[in-house]
Amino acid sequence: MYLVRLIYTSEISDGFGPNDIENILEKAKQNNAKCNVTGLLCFNSSHFMQCLEGSRKAVNETYHRILNDKRHRNIIMLNYCEIYEREFENWSMGYIPYTKQVSPINLKYSGTSEFNPLAMSAGSAHKLMLALRDSLLKHTM
Ligand code: FAD
Repeated sequence: MYLVRLIYTSEISDGFGPNDIENILEKAKQNNAKCNVTGLLCFNSSHFMQCLEGSRKAVNETYHRILNDKRHRNIIMLNYCEIYEREFENWSMGYIPYTKQVSPINLKYSGTSEFNPLAMSAGSAHKLMLALRDSLLKHTM
Protein backbone atom coordinates (compact mmCIF):
# COMPACT_ATOMS: atom_id res chain seq x y z
CA MET A 1 0.00 0.00 0.00
CA TYR A 2 1.49 3.34 -1.04
CA LEU A 3 2.39 5.85 1.62
CA VAL A 4 1.19 9.41 1.05
CA ARG A 5 1.43 12.73 2.85
CA LEU A 6 -1.24 15.40 2.80
CA ILE A 7 -0.99 18.91 4.26
CA TYR A 8 -3.97 21.24 4.43
CA THR A 9 -4.97 24.43 6.14
CA SER A 10 -8.35 25.65 7.39
CA GLU A 11 -9.89 28.24 9.68
CA ILE A 12 -12.21 27.83 12.65
CA SER A 13 -15.94 28.18 12.10
CA ASP A 14 -18.11 30.61 14.05
CA GLY A 15 -18.97 29.01 17.35
CA PHE A 16 -15.70 27.11 17.67
CA GLY A 17 -15.48 26.60 21.43
CA PRO A 18 -12.59 26.47 23.91
CA ASN A 19 -12.94 22.69 24.36
CA ASP A 20 -13.10 21.91 20.66
CA ILE A 21 -9.37 21.58 20.12
CA GLU A 22 -9.07 18.97 22.91
CA ASN A 23 -12.04 17.04 21.52
CA ILE A 24 -10.62 17.11 18.01
CA LEU A 25 -7.23 15.90 19.17
CA GLU A 26 -8.69 13.10 21.27
CA LYS A 27 -10.79 11.84 18.37
CA ALA A 28 -7.91 12.27 15.90
CA LYS A 29 -5.55 10.22 18.07
CA GLN A 30 -8.15 7.47 18.57
CA ASN A 31 -9.15 7.18 14.91
CA ASN A 32 -5.66 7.60 13.48
CA ALA A 33 -4.16 4.94 15.72
CA LYS A 34 -6.73 2.46 14.37
CA CYS A 35 -5.78 3.04 10.71
CA ASN A 36 -2.07 3.84 11.20
CA VAL A 37 -2.32 7.48 10.20
CA THR A 38 0.38 9.66 11.76
CA GLY A 39 0.83 13.41 11.66
CA LEU A 40 0.98 16.80 13.27
CA LEU A 41 -1.52 19.58 13.88
CA CYS A 42 -0.59 23.23 14.43
CA PHE A 43 -3.26 25.67 15.65
CA ASN A 44 -3.00 29.40 16.40
CA SER A 45 -6.58 29.92 17.69
CA SER A 46 -7.88 30.89 14.23
CA HIS A 47 -6.08 28.70 11.66
CA PHE A 48 -5.21 25.02 11.50
CA MET A 49 -2.41 23.44 9.56
CA GLN A 50 -2.31 19.67 9.61
CA CYS A 51 -0.14 16.99 8.10
CA LEU A 52 -1.53 13.47 7.64
CA GLU A 53 0.57 10.54 6.46
CA GLY A 54 -0.22 6.89 5.99
CA SER A 55 -1.63 4.57 3.36
CA ARG A 56 -3.36 6.35 0.50
CA LYS A 57 -6.68 4.80 1.51
CA ALA A 58 -6.41 5.73 5.20
CA VAL A 59 -5.27 9.31 4.51
CA ASN A 60 -8.00 9.76 1.91
CA GLU A 61 -10.74 8.49 4.26
CA THR A 62 -9.47 10.62 7.13
CA TYR A 63 -9.27 13.74 4.97
CA HIS A 64 -12.84 13.19 3.71
CA ARG A 65 -14.13 13.07 7.30
CA ILE A 66 -12.15 16.21 8.12
CA LEU A 67 -13.58 18.01 5.06
CA ASN A 68 -17.11 17.37 6.38
CA ASP A 69 -16.42 18.67 9.86
CA LYS A 70 -18.46 21.81 10.59
CA ARG A 71 -15.99 23.03 13.21
CA HIS A 72 -13.77 24.50 10.50
CA ARG A 73 -14.12 25.98 7.01
CA ASN A 74 -12.09 27.16 3.99
CA ILE A 75 -10.22 23.88 3.94
CA ILE A 76 -7.46 24.12 1.35
CA MET A 77 -5.07 21.34 0.44
CA LEU A 78 -1.52 22.70 0.33
CA ASN A 79 0.54 19.62 -0.42
CA TYR A 80 -0.15 16.02 -1.43
CA CYS A 81 2.39 13.46 -2.59
CA GLU A 82 3.52 9.87 -2.45
CA ILE A 83 6.33 9.36 0.06
CA TYR A 84 8.90 6.64 0.73
CA GLU A 85 8.84 6.92 4.49
CA ARG A 86 6.94 8.61 7.30
CA GLU A 87 8.26 11.80 8.87
CA PHE A 88 5.78 12.07 11.76
CA GLU A 89 5.79 8.46 12.94
CA ASN A 90 6.06 9.48 16.60
CA TRP A 91 2.46 10.65 16.80
CA SER A 92 -0.97 9.38 15.77
CA MET A 93 -1.59 13.13 15.95
CA GLY A 94 1.05 15.41 17.45
CA TYR A 95 -0.02 18.86 18.53
CA ILE A 96 1.87 22.12 18.50
CA PRO A 97 0.03 25.28 19.57
CA TYR A 98 1.23 28.44 17.84
CA THR A 99 3.20 30.34 20.48
CA LYS A 100 5.89 33.06 20.56
CA GLN A 101 8.50 30.31 20.20
CA VAL A 102 6.92 29.12 16.95
CA SER A 103 6.90 32.57 15.37
CA PRO A 104 10.59 32.65 14.27
CA ILE A 105 10.26 29.12 12.85
CA ASN A 106 7.24 30.29 10.86
CA LEU A 107 9.08 33.39 9.61
CA LYS A 108 11.76 31.19 8.03
CA TYR A 109 9.14 29.77 5.62
CA SER A 110 6.79 32.77 5.25
CA GLY A 111 6.80 36.38 4.10
CA THR A 112 5.82 37.54 7.60
CA SER A 113 5.98 36.13 11.12
CA GLU A 114 2.17 35.93 11.13
CA PHE A 115 0.89 32.35 10.80
CA ASN A 116 -0.77 32.37 7.40
CA PRO A 117 -0.52 28.93 5.78
CA LEU A 118 -2.60 30.08 2.79
CA ALA A 119 0.29 32.31 1.74
CA MET A 120 2.73 29.40 1.71
CA SER A 121 3.96 27.28 -1.15
CA ALA A 122 3.55 23.51 -0.92
CA GLY A 123 7.29 23.18 -0.26
CA SER A 124 7.34 25.81 2.48
CA ALA A 125 4.29 24.25 4.15
CA HIS A 126 6.08 20.88 4.25
CA LYS A 127 9.33 22.40 5.53
CA LEU A 128 7.46 24.32 8.23
CA MET A 129 5.78 21.10 9.41
CA LEU A 130 9.19 19.40 9.61
CA ALA A 131 10.63 22.32 11.59
CA LEU A 132 7.64 22.20 13.96
CA ARG A 133 8.14 18.45 14.33
CA ASP A 134 11.79 18.99 15.30
CA SER A 135 10.81 21.68 17.78
CA LEU A 136 8.18 19.40 19.35
CA LEU A 137 10.63 16.51 19.55
CA LYS A 138 13.22 18.76 21.21
CA HIS A 139 10.77 19.85 23.87
CA THR A 140 9.23 16.46 24.61
CA MET A 141 12.17 14.05 24.47
P1 FAD B 1 -17.99 10.95 15.50
O1 FAD B 1 -16.91 11.53 16.36
O2 FAD B 1 -18.98 10.07 16.11
O3 FAD B 1 -18.71 12.20 14.78
C1 FAD B 1 -19.83 12.03 13.94
C2 FAD B 1 -20.08 13.33 13.18
O4 FAD B 1 -20.28 14.42 14.10
C3 FAD B 1 -18.88 13.71 12.32
O5 FAD B 1 -19.38 14.28 11.12
C4 FAD B 1 -18.18 14.78 13.12
O6 FAD B 1 -17.45 15.69 12.30
C5 FAD B 1 -19.34 15.45 13.86
N1 FAD B 1 -18.92 15.98 15.17
C6 FAD B 1 -18.37 15.29 16.18
N2 FAD B 1 -18.15 16.08 17.23
C7 FAD B 1 -18.57 17.32 16.86
C8 FAD B 1 -18.62 18.58 17.51
N3 FAD B 1 -18.17 18.74 18.75
N4 FAD B 1 -19.11 19.62 16.82
C9 FAD B 1 -19.58 19.50 15.57
N5 FAD B 1 -19.56 18.32 14.89
C10 FAD B 1 -19.07 17.26 15.54
N6 FAD B 1 -10.36 13.05 12.72
C11 FAD B 1 -9.54 12.02 12.53
O7 FAD B 1 -9.98 10.87 12.54
N7 FAD B 1 -8.20 12.21 12.36
C12 FAD B 1 -7.64 13.45 12.34
O8 FAD B 1 -6.41 13.57 12.19
C13 FAD B 1 -8.49 14.57 12.52
N8 FAD B 1 -8.01 15.83 12.49
C14 FAD B 1 -8.88 16.88 12.56
C15 FAD B 1 -8.37 18.18 12.44
C16 FAD B 1 -9.25 19.27 12.47
C17 FAD B 1 -8.68 20.66 12.29
C18 FAD B 1 -10.64 19.06 12.65
C19 FAD B 1 -11.57 20.22 12.69
C20 FAD B 1 -11.13 17.78 12.79
C21 FAD B 1 -10.26 16.68 12.76
N9 FAD B 1 -10.72 15.38 12.91
C22 FAD B 1 -9.88 14.32 12.72
C23 FAD B 1 -12.14 15.09 13.24
C24 FAD B 1 -12.89 14.72 12.01
O9 FAD B 1 -13.22 15.90 11.29
C25 FAD B 1 -14.18 13.97 12.35
O10 FAD B 1 -14.95 14.74 13.24
C26 FAD B 1 -13.88 12.63 12.99
O11 FAD B 1 -12.90 11.93 12.26
C27 FAD B 1 -15.20 11.84 13.01
O12 FAD B 1 -14.97 10.73 13.79
P2 FAD B 1 -16.06 9.55 13.85
O13 FAD B 1 -16.21 9.00 12.48
O14 FAD B 1 -15.61 8.62 14.91
O15 FAD B 1 -17.43 10.24 14.18
